[in-house]
Amino acid sequence: MLSLLGKIIPVYKEVICELKAAGVSWIQFDEPTFVTDPDSHKLQAFVEAYSELQLSLSGMSVIIETYFADVPAEAYRTLTSLKCITGFGFDLVRGTKTLDLIKDNFPKGKYLFAGVVDGRNIWANDLAASLCTLEELEGIVGKDKLVVSTSCSLLHTAVDLINETKLDKEIKSWLAFAAQKVVEVNALAKALAGQKDEEFFSANTSAQASRKFSPRVTNEAVQKAAAALKGSYHRRSTNVSARLDAQKNKLNLPILPTTTIGSFPQTIELRRVRREYKAKKISEEEYIMAIKEEINKVVKLQEELDIDVLVHGEPERNDMVEYFGEQLSGFAFTANGWVQSYGSRCVKPPIIYGDVSRPKPMTIFWSSTAQSMTSRPMKGMLTGPVTILNWSFVRNDQPRFETCYQIALAIKDEVEDLEKAGINVIQIDEAALREGLPLRKSEHAFYLDWAVHSFRITNCGAKDTTQIHTHMCYSNFNDIIHSIIDMDADVITIENSRSDEKLLSVFREGVKYGAGIGPGVYDIHSPRIPSTEEIADRINKMLAVLESNILWVNPDCGLKTRKYAEVKPALQNMIAAAKLLRTQMASAK
Ligand code: GLN
Ligand code: ZN
Repeated sequence: MLSLLGKIIPVYKEVICELKAAGVSWIQFDEPTFVTDPDSHKLQAFVEAYSELQLSLSGMSVIIETYFADVPAEAYRTLTSLKCITGFGFDLVRGTKTLDLIKDNFPKGKYLFAGVVDGRNIWANDLAASLCTLEELEGIVGKDKLVVSTSCSLLHTAVDLINETKLDKEIKSWLAFAAQKVVEVNALAKALAGQKDEEFFSANTSAQASRKFSPRVTNEAVQKAAAALKGSYHRRSTNVSARLDAQKNKLNLPILPTTTIGSFPQTIELRRVRREYKAKKISEEEYIMAIKEEINKVVKLQEELDIDVLVHGEPERNDMVEYFGEQLSGFAFTANGWVQSYGSRCVKPPIIYGDVSRPKPMTIFWSSTAQSMTSRPMKGMLTGPVTILNWSFVRNDQPRFETCYQIALAIKDEVEDLEKAGINVIQIDEAALREGLPLRKSEHAFYLDWAVHSFRITNCGAKDTTQIHTHMCYSNFNDIIHSIIDMDADVITIENSRSDEKLLSVFREGVKYGAGIGPGVYDIHSPRIPSTEEIADRINKMLAVLESNILWVNPDCGLKTRKYAEVKPALQNMIAAAKLLRTQMASAK
């Protein structure tokens, strides 16, 4: 890839030239790759690229920005030795070790853009602490060379608190969205210049104190329970193959069992019902009736299609994280706290501000209602702790893993209640587990360890006959396959067809996987209806690398974004393909 640099540099030269002609005097290059442990080749290429650009850049002030993590020592030395650069920007929130490198050695006469205000979160800055850091840095780089900055672009935080009229006042005082962060940056710069806004700073100090000592943040029982987890392993006592045997007897499933990932189409009518219930336009009874009816429709459809393990379709859920967050303590929700997720898709992440607990069951009513409608196994459907964590704004006053363990304990309570309610198959979605992987390789093992541990906590107490499923939304798991095995789920359903079956290569390479696995047989992101032959062909490819007794047949992901007109024929073909192969396998014996 680096060999392509030679082709890009001339384009950069052109752009720089145009910017210069337009009167631009400062130019910023984003080089977050610096935080990803660049090797010496990459560093060399970097030095060469910027010396190539040197001439074009002359007469302009140039800043190189890095963010999201620490810059490793060697990369820091290479970066800061570049002569043609005017200033360097560092994320001093997620990269606190970089602070030591700066204190140790910062090039004379260069600007330091100190990212002390977190651009990726929604918490108000601790202004007194930041001012301390800045004063120390000023002593190192000089008064006129220090620039106060956010730690990264403000793309990753919500826009403006002013829009949050319904948010609890006290919680609101702990927050800063993009508009407030800019004010913080400005206040810090002014304070450094001797014009400290005392009122603003003291309001900030009180807000920090109120957050620290608020009884709504701390729940001692939760803290104790989470602390007690440390040092133990939390794993179901029987191994997976023995568990699968016990489940086989209990569930009585055919070979190549079929299932779906959870959600069924979210129709306009369904969205209307939820909206009206939320706005109190319809009564609770009416709401329950409407959702029950929907579940019944979905159950009957699955029975008609002859699916083996059913789902209730998730009609009561607007979003797989929000649904749980709304019922857990320690979560707050914004009205307009949108952030970009990918492409043009935006999400409104919940804010985890306090210790997390589950005041009462969250899914039992709907799951047992659904189970009562059928004699086939009904999958309980939960969102896993790591996904809830990774898709929320997380508190910054304790390590992420602590918060994750607390969520895990809450989900564990739910798993136990589902089991008691007679649900024998429980899916705990970890759609976002891989997304949380740190940028620096050296931090992967630690993250995976607590993430996988959190998942196991949720179901370590489950009976052997209770089948625990998990689902993941990505295919590129070749590098974390051992962590996935270590999750110790009985069955994993995973995206596969959208990514041209890359997933299977890991098994081709000989990784032993003994649990049940359902690599998706068709892409739900497309309206296209896959034919029976095409699906059978996919399953055959899987059978070439996986034992037939562990293979499941299911789509890539949930069906909520699709229409019934697409879902029905697609599932029909999926079931036909599974049946075709069952017959072929039986006659081959
Ligand atoms: N159970 C969820 C659904 O089916 C899973 C969604 C996801 O993986 N993103 O919608
Ligand atoms: Zn998915």
